[in-house]
Amino acid sequence: MSDPNCIFCKIASKQIPAFIVYEDEQVVAFKDISPQVPVHVLIVPRLHLAGLDALTEAHRELVGHIALVAQQLAKELGVTTRGYRLVANCGPDAGQTVFHLHFHLLGGAPMAGKMV
Ligand code: 5GP
Ligand code: ZN
Repeated sequence: MSDPNCIFCKIASKQIPAFIVYEDEQVVAFKDISPQVPVHVLIVPRLHLAGLDALTEAHRELVGHIALVAQQLAKELGVTTRGYRLVANCGPDAGQTVFHLHFHLLGGAPMAGKMV
């Protein structure tokens, strides 16, 4: 299911353009419009889910799939040796701005401000 007002649903269905680096029947991965590091890709499910809080038991396989897609993309984008992060912001304290579940794959430069 998709939300007609959601920017990431529109990217997933190619109603608006993005630099897509990977897609399959469950997920789409595309370059962030405002990259924070040299490799900054967003991995999103095709299914509209507002964020981590919207996940249920039914999405267990989907989240595992996203983690493996992230690992594969990290290899393809050449960041496995130096390292990378996979981050999902959920809610206002975490700074979530787009309310369609997404995971930031970040790499390609040392990340300052180690939070955890
Ligand atoms: P959040 O702050 O919700 O964790 O992350 C949202 C991310 O989506 C931000 O890093 C922002 O740059 C990115 N973003 C917002 N709108 C667009 C867009 O239209 N296209 C692309 N490629 N990225 C977007
Ligand atoms: Zn959506």
